[in-house]
Amino acid sequence: MFAARGVGTPPTSSPPPCRDRRKWRVLDSRHGLALFDTPKRHEDFVVYDLLTGEHWEIHADPKCHYFMWWPDDDDDLHACLRCNATLLCAKDRCGHLDCHGGPFRMAFVGCDYTGRAAHATVYSSETREWTDVTSVEHEHYIHYTAHSAVVGDKVYVPCMESDSLIVYNMGKRELSVIDPPFVVQAITLMGAEDGMPLFASVVKPRLLLWSLEAGPSGAARWTRHRVIELKSLLPTTVLLDNSGVTPVGFAEGVGVIFLSTKAGLYTIELSSRRSKKVHGRQSMEKVIPYMSFYTGEWGPLLASDEASPAVGGGTTI
Ligand SMILES: [Zn+2]
Repeated sequence: MFAARGVGTPPTSSPPPCRDRRKWRVLDSRHGLALFDTPKRHEDFVVYDLLTGEHWEIHADPKCHYFMWWPDDDDDLHACLRCNATLLCAKDRCGHLDCHGGPFRMAFVGCDYTGRAAHATVYSSETREWTDVTSVEHEHYIHYTAHSAVVGDKVYVPCMESDSLIVYNMGKRELSVIDPPFVVQAITLMGAEDGMPLFASVVKPRLLLWSLEAGPSGAARWTRHRVIELKSLLPTTVLLDNSGVTPVGFAEGVGVIFLSTKAGLYTIELSSRRSKKVHGRQSMEKVIPYMSFYTGEWGPLLASDEASPAVGGGTTI
């Protein structure tokens, strides 16, 4: 996970020390909150406001266990979460510009171990309850470690071994399946931009971006195609050799793509087309940016030289 702040304050209380959260896994981060899978603890999940330290411990409803964890995982049940999790803001009329501290919802989309149906449920921090499970017949496994996208009341989750997407309409409590109209070079769902799911792929030396618009009957079409030349943005060596350059994360709202390369992790700002090396580690599989913004409501501001840019100079946690 990458932590980045607009203008920030130090946490009023910190997450548990590293030795106590070695097995924690970040599942998602949006709206100033981060969702963790916390195996080997009494709760199943923890949602943290990393800026203030406020947190919520959550137990999964037993009626959802069959698609969250599979029978073969009994030895180390909670180390093997098999569904895709998405964190959502539940604040009334929120513009999502500076929301933090909840209330929130968590959408879980997965399939049982037979892979013949997809299932979904939502947890609300306000009611502390899980909705009834919604199901749809579908023969592909849910990609449980991939990024999801949120557009309005819909959560988009990719499938394994197919290009189809599962769409969970939380308002209507409906699950549906959409298929992109044609397959484009190893596309990866990154998140949402301008009210549409955003996909990316790298065909060296270019970064390719698509937006997908879903029609009412499940038909979908690509609506925008952008090409970003990477020649001046990444080291020549990673563009000329056989190593992979992989889109691994997207900071929504600020339009920044994270690219993993053998030379480290780079950010590409889509509007300015500037790049920056933000981590030296090679071949990261997934980056989940954490962003939170201080609005003056919680106390005195830090001096300006203590504030960091919205994205960049990220901090791993
Ligand atoms: Zn919000």
